[in-house]
Amino acid sequence: MEQTLVIIKPDGVRRKLVGRIIQRFEEKNLTIKEMYQGVMTDKIAQEHYAHLKEKPFFPNLVAYMTSGPVVFLLLEGADAIPLVRQMLGATNVLQAVPGTIRGDFACSTTENLVHASDSPENAAIEIQRFFG
Ligand code: UDP
Ligand code: MG
Repeated sequence: MEQTLVIIKPDGVRRKLVGRIIQRFEEKNLTIKEMYQGVMTDKIAQEHYAHLKEKPFFPNLVAYMTSGPVVFLLLEGADAIPLVRQMLGATNVLQAVPGTIRGDFACSTTENLVHASDSPENAAIEIQRFFG
């Protein structure tokens, strides 16, 4: 069993897609171990995306991620980390294929509805960051 951290980003909450996004994870038989809604502070958003701080889109990304409530999910299942990444779809809006969450609902590379941990190392750090 693996655990991974998912964030339904502010556009997902604003667009009232929380239920539909969570439904996909449940349909895939992933277990919701923990879940809450909250607003990311500037400091936490900068820390969460620290690896991207040199990118030109970084200020926009932080502004977007702090622009409203998000939903944090701690999901568990076999191969949950790569499985959930596959369910999200590609980062680039034009490469996110239909059938994935981003492919079906996102129309922007920045406002792409969901975050998920990309490795066991980052999952451990992100679960600690948001679920303590
Ligand atoms: N992002 C962006 N422009 C880009 C690449 C990424 O605004 O050209 C944003 C987007 O919201 C993405 C987040 O930065 O989800 C983190 O980027 P990363 O490369 O880690 O993609 P992810 O792991 O979310 O697929
Ligand atoms: Mg990433």
